[in-house]
Amino acid sequence: MTDVRRALPSVGAVLDSPEIIALLSEFPRSIVVDAVREAIESARSSGGAEIDWADAVRRNIARLSRPSLRPVINATGIILHTNLGRAPLAGAAIEAITAIARGFSNLEYELGGGKRGSRHSHCVSLLTRLTGAEDAMVVNNGAAALVLALNTIARKREVLVSRGELVEIGGSFRIPDIMERSGARLVEVGTTNRTHADDYRRAITKKTAAMVKIHRSNFAVAGFVSEVGVPDLAFIASEHAIPVIHDLGSGLLIPLDAYGLTGEPTVREAMAAKPTIAIMSGDKLLGGPQAGIIIGEAKTLAKLRANPLARALRVDKLTLAALEATLAIYLDEARAVKEIPALAMIAATTDVLRKRAELIMRDAGPRAEIVESEASVGAGAFPTKMLPSIAVALMGKAKALDARFRSGKIPVVGRIADDKLLLDLRSVQEQDDADLAAAIIDALL
Ligand SMILES: *Cc1c(COP(=O)(O)O)cnc(C)c1O
Repeated sequence: MTDVRRALPSVGAVLDSPEIIALLSEFPRSIVVDAVREAIESARSSGGAEIDWADAVRRNIARLSRPSLRPVINATGIILHTNLGRAPLAGAAIEAITAIARGFSNLEYELGGGKRGSRHSHCVSLLTRLTGAEDAMVVNNGAAALVLALNTIARKREVLVSRGELVEIGGSFRIPDIMERSGARLVEVGTTNRTHADDYRRAITKKTAAMVKIHRSNFAVAGFVSEVGVPDLAFIASEHAIPVIHDLGSGLLIPLDAYGLTGEPTVREAMAAKPTIAIMSGDKLLGGPQAGIIIGEAKTLAKLRANPLARALRVDKLTLAALEATLAIYLDEARAVKEIPALAMIAATTDVLRKRAELIMRDAGPRAEIVESEASVGAGAFPTKMLPSIAVALMGKAKALDARFRSGKIPVVGRIADDKLLLDLRSVQEQDDADLAAAIIDALL
């Protein structure tokens, strides 16, 4: 061991070799130096087998200079996967981002009057047209929308919420914790399984500032259950002149019954129940960029816009560009189902998925086969509805294969079921099929 260590070159010696000097003209010096240091370090810990230093250093450089945030292929079968970045954007949204990103824009400038404008003016007309709401505003994400609404409406006062709606939305973030940070005090009403109109009525005091309805995004309750709908909440609230906030979670702009997704209201239907305001995410079922969309009464939204927190939670120009382009697609529902990737994935038939699987499998050999599978929407929409799907199942040690797919040139994230690695095609974009086919061949080598 001591001999091997003595035989290892110094960092300086490796850096002085002609091959490494050549790398210095291509890559930043600090990266090359770190790559050399790590190559020597791993040679030391691996006992000092014969080493091609240039090759080892090149591999380390590739790893060290790779971006942290990278594209992956989502083969989990969960279309809107929060850990994988939720909704992929439509082509028109990507073009809009590029157009705005490359130069200046009228983000806060009124071109007509030639004076300062408001970033809150963008997306408003599309959102009101698509939802039937009187007014709209956009902030950084759904959680920010909730904080802004409660901080504006209910700071240092009380907010009524059903015990059956105190949900955790993933990443161990809990809606009640987020709500409390707004400065509002939560008053829980009813029980986990049943909440009645009288529970809300009895809880109303002089300190009550709002009633909140929260969509049970990621679970369902069944059995001896009851809840109070927004129409009844709005009626009770109107008797006491307090606002109703409906946190819709996902934000479904068009009905998806044709694809077996029933039981959740569209945003327009939710607005017909007359909440004062409603809140939804931009990057869940809506299929746009990360954003929090608040729609409803103009008088209330004016107060939200005037809250200093609105500045802290504001949305950036790239998001507004992508959201506006995404919303514009919804003006034509048939176009929306084709062009918004999340909706297109939901709408794809299993016949189409099977044909794609056959093409993907063509050169994969006998260790891959086509199987039927079940996919889901994800990101807090239709938690109990499964979408029939098609997957490529791979023979072999599932965990080891899974790791290989994740460490490939374009990482592929699949799902392990019954000790098999499944690559579910419903959440894979067709444009990624060739890369997926190549990844399968690489992983099975
Ligand atoms: C997802 C969700 C949120 C949070 O929205 P983000 O855009 O992720 O911040 C809030 N409420 C409900 C009901 C949700 O489903």
